[in-house]
Amino acid sequence: MLLKGKTALITGASRGIGEAIANKFAQEGANIAFTYLSSKEKALALENHLHTYGIKAIGYKSDAASFAEAEHLVGNVLMEFQTIDIVVNNAGITRDNLILRMTEQQWDEIMHTNLKSVFNICKQVVKPMMKQRGGSIINMSSIVGMTGNAGQTNYSASKAGIIGFTKSLAKELGSRNIRCNAIAPGFIETEMTHGLSDELKEQFMKNIPLGRYGSSEEVAKVCVFLASELSSYVNGQVISVCGGLNT
Ligand code: NAP
Repeated sequence: MLLKGKTALITGASRGIGEAIANKFAQEGANIAFTYLSSKEKALALENHLHTYGIKAIGYKSDAASFAEAEHLVGNVLMEFQTIDIVVNNAGITRDNLILRMTEQQWDEIMHTNLKSVFNICKQVVKPMMKQRGGSIINMSSIVGMTGNAGQTNYSASKAGIIGFTKSLAKELGSRNIRCNAIAPGFIETEMTHGLSDELKEQFMKNIPLGRYGSSEEVAKVCVFLASELSSYVNGQVISVCGGLNT
């Protein structure tokens, strides 16, 4: 029960890594507010499942890319849960293309959903966290934010941006006992990676020292570490969860 009585806000938790984080946090005793964009049925199913851990859980339809919706969301969460102790900015998408073919729309969608979304939520939660005199913010980056990846100039740039944002926020808010860290997953089996070509998957696999892809639960376990007092002196860091791919 590492998170007993804490409230966590997790964006993009209807599927994949976000869903695993919501489950792990609930197992550790946290109350869960989570968001989704279009997977209403999955969100409802998750909400019901989370209740079985004996905690409070509410799913909110909220577009991470929208500043106005983030403002509305955080207001509603505070009204329902009173505090927000942990934030996981997890919502993210891919719009892969080589630069020669990439459209302005593909660039903008990635920047808004992956990067601006982190600003949108942090801007809203910082004040309540300062009042509470503490908090833990976890931003979902990616190893390609550090290594780059052909066909992902937009995605890699957004994930590198998250790292700069995370380190800056950690420096701004450390004195207020608010920690901000990033996780950089490698290749994790979710719907996001299902669509990749077999050729690309083989290429990744060859370079993973552990010789296998990661699971959402393995990312969620690192989130529990960063959300809890286990990481009380960890701030402004990027933790790779990649089986050694980025080594
Ligand atoms: P996923 O399976 O595709 O799930 C994405 C989640 O984000 C869904 O819950 C989706 O909601 C939500 N979402 C998407 N756009 C949103 C928006 N505008 N507003 C609110 N929610 C939105 O992806 P995943 O693999 O779990 O990835 C989660 C995070 O980890 C992402 O930031 C991703 O970039 C990062 N990551 C993943 C990998 C990997 O290998 N899978 C590697 C590195 C980093 P709906 O279901 O409603 O669409």
